[in-house]
Parts: sequence; structure tokens; C-alpha cells
Amino acid sequence: MAVQRKICLLGDFAVGKTSLVRRFVYDLFDDNYISTIGVKVSRKTVAVPRDGNIVELTMMLWDLASSEAFDRMRSTYLRGAAGAVLVCDLTRPETLDVLRARAADLRDANPDARLVVAANKCDLAEQQRLTPAQVEAAAAELDIPYYITSAKTGGEVEALFRRLGRMLVS
Ligand code: GDP
Ligand code: MG
Repeated sequence: MAVQRKICLLGDFAVGKTSLVRRFVYDLFDDNYISTIGVKVSRKTVAVPRDGNIVELTMMLWDLASSEAFDRMRSTYLRGAAGAVLVCDLTRPETLDVLRARAADLRDANPDARLVVAANKCDLAEQQRLTPAQVEAAAAELDIPYYITSAKTGGEVEALFRRLGRMLVS
């Protein structure tokens, strides 16, 4: 069986949305800040187990260039999204507030959406301003599974997207 699902990357600017997609889809990372224009859709097909069978899930990963683009395109962007990766940056606590706001936006657009949290940039150990406990508390309050990720090293990136994949076919 083969299915296709729209997944939105959501979160404040520069938290690592584009880098997480790039790591997951191409296994690459770039330290240069590349601000994409408009919206980019990347595609990756993964084999996901369901009830003893394998589902071929094509993840259509929607990634917006900027916060301005989100404000402008919000309803188009969120429409039809089956899931989302909500990203915050462990070095910037305020990005957790933006994450909460985006979770509410997506749940407004689709109450059935499957969500995962990526608390990103865990490789920047000295600059951490959000503790794992704070991330855990926020995720628990939202009732969303969370992963402490690094798009730079690849840490937990595969696990994050695979978890979302399983949630999307269950
Ligand atoms: P976006 O605006 O949310 O799409 O963020 P980007 O993916 O463009 O990343 C913003 C900046 O953070 C870029 O300079 C990236 O190289 C950097 N970045 C993203 N993820 C990580 C990470 O896990 N670790 C580190 N050290 N830098 C990261
Ligand atoms: Mg980006």
C-alpha cells in the first residue's frame, strides 16, 4: 500500500526547519544561512510498518522561507496538512513560545493533524538556554512527542521523522 501525506515544517525563523529537511532528505548540512524564497516542497518515501504490513509513505515536506511568508500564506500553507514538525531552537527560549502558537494554528486548521516537536541545535552545548526539562514540560502540555535534535550532526533527525511517519499511517 502506498500513501502520500502533506507535512508542514513550523517554527520561528532560523530554528533549523530547512536544515532538518535537508538532513532527512539529502543527509546534508550547510552552516551558511540559506533563506529560501516562498515555499519549497521536498519529498521522501519511507517504509512504515502498520499491523504487520509495510506502508510506502511519501512524505511531502513543506518548508516556508520566512515568517513573513507564513503570515502571508498561512491558510494555503496549512491547508491539507496531515502532520507537522514543530521546531524550536535550544539556544533561543522564545522560540518555544512561537512553537506553541504554531501548534495552535495547525490544530485550528486540522484538529486531526499528527505533530512532533524537534528541539534543535543540541550540538551547541555551551549555548543551550532551554533545558530538556522545559522542552519536556512544553511537549507534555501540548501532548506531542518530542526529540532533542541536531540537523548538524544528524542526531535524532531520522528518529523524529520516522516517528511522525508511524503516526501518519496508524
Ligand atoms: P529555518 O529558518 O528554520 O529554516 O532555519 P535554517 O535551517 O535555515 O537554519 C538557520 C541557521 O541555523 C543556519 O545557519 C543553520 O546552519 C543553523 N542550524 C540549523 N540547524 C542547526 C543545528 O542543529 N546545529 C547548529 N549548530 N546549527 C544549526
Ligand atoms: Mg528555512
